[in-house]
Amino acid sequence: MNIPISNLPRVVIIGGGFAGVKLVKTLANKNLQVVLIDKHNYHTFQPLLYQVSSSGLEPDSIAYPLRKIIKKHKTTFFRLAEVEEIYPENNTIKTSIGIIEFDYLIIATGTKTNFFGNDTIKAHSMPMKSVPQALDIRSLILQNFEKAAIANSKQEREAFLNFVIVGAGPTGVELAGAIAELKNNILPRDYKDLNPTDMHIHLLEGAERVLPPMSKFASQKAEQFLTDLGVNVHCNTHVKDYNGNLVKTNTDLEFQSETLIWAAGVTGAPVHGLKAEVLIEKSNRYKVNHFNQIEGYDTIFAVGDIALMATEAYPNGHPQVAQPAIQQGKLLGENLLRKIKNKPMKPFVYNDKGSMATIGRNKAVVDLKHFKFGGFFAWFVWMFIHLMSLVGFRNRVIVFFNWTYNYINFDKAARLIIRPFKK
Ligand SMILES: Cc1cc2nc3c(=O)[nH]c(=O)nc-3n(C[C@H](O)[C@H](O)[C@H](O)COP(=O)(O)OP(=O)(O)OC[C@H]3O[C@@H](n4cnc5c(N)ncnc54)[C@H](O)[C@@H]3O)c2cc1C
Repeated sequence: MNIPISNLPRVVIIGGGFAGVKLVKTLANKNLQVVLIDKHNYHTFQPLLYQVSSSGLEPDSIAYPLRKIIKKHKTTFFRLAEVEEIYPENNTIKTSIGIIEFDYLIIATGTKTNFFGNDTIKAHSMPMKSVPQALDIRSLILQNFEKAAIANSKQEREAFLNFVIVGAGPTGVELAGAIAELKNNILPRDYKDLNPTDMHIHLLEGAERVLPPMSKFASQKAEQFLTDLGVNVHCNTHVKDYNGNLVKTNTDLEFQSETLIWAAGVTGAPVHGLKAEVLIEKSNRYKVNHFNQIEGYDTIFAVGDIALMATEAYPNGHPQVAQPAIQQGKLLGENLLRKIKNKPMKPFVYNDKGSMATIGRNKAVVDLKHFKFGGFFAWFVWMFIHLMSLVGFRNRVIVFFNWTYNYINFDKAARLIIRPFKK
């Protein structure tokens, strides 16, 4: 791996997501050797993946090189590798590029798409968890438009223009809104040979309302916004089967569709090697104590989505969103420095800053602890927070420019099939 041997304690971090990056930044230029390992050479800002899928942004504005994050960290190293196994008995991990020893190991591997064991749906649907997957969705949508333009029958055309999104959490709701904007603003101008009324967007949700983790106020407002945009919302509905052409639901609905986008859930992405009892089977998350230490291990920790810390306020663990990951990453960095100096670590307390989702132009919902609101102001708040949360000044400027341009011109500029998607 070519990591220099030093007298400094070595902290190995698996995963450069929200938690891993915050941790790396907290440990910068301290008396430690830090090794960050990720299977991608960039950090992904997942909350804006849907804008890449719907041609609103290019991927380079929501991804950021991990090496650039650590360029001024003198004792931090990055290695592009997939971690395959942990050997806790001799403090080493096996990766796709070799074995490395650690004094402290932090698992920050996040989650992967959960198909709930349905292999047919997995084989035919489009997940949206990474930049390549978001680009695949973008290509497929645009390819479908092109195929619809030359389809021989109405039925064939509608199959290309029917978009089914499964899961009406923030991701599904945001994507449905963005695809509806493609229908309303782009189709009539760029595809004069298509009739926008032939295009249908179906959003399926198993729960009784959209945005189930948010307030009822947010759900009602979001559903209204979606309906206004022309999205067909189907609650209490889940997919029974999808063979690549036909979607079947538990409520006996059937849609001919070439595109099923799966935004229905995630499960942890653990690494093999730790005792079976530290992994919670249902969610694939590691059981951690209030210091993010994995139960039964003194020097192995988990942070972010992969960690399940049961507290009085959150008996089933914290929500799998960016803020707990960022806050845990920061505190763990501070705690490691305390631990190395033999000082007591501080327990994690989550500061819930609220949640939000956008449905489209001028349309968003925000739930704060004591205040809920929706509409233009919520949309403005959503944009501001997401812009400021992006990693890197360049990315913020590019996204700001793109959003301003799109707002003025009702446009989505990244409508390019760079890498055609093959089913
Ligand atoms: C489409 C989408 C939209 C979202 N929208 C929002 C939102 O609007 N607001 C919000 O707060 N949250 C949102 N989330 C959730 C949020 O992105 C996650 O909660 C957050 O990313 C968790 O951070 P993390 O550091 O735990 O994991 P991640 O950010 O997922 O990072 C994990 C990292 O580990 C790496 N990795 C995994 N396994 C290995 C391995 N074996 N070897 C090497 N590297 C590995 C991955 O490449 C990745 O870089 C969204 C998620 C998705 C998928």
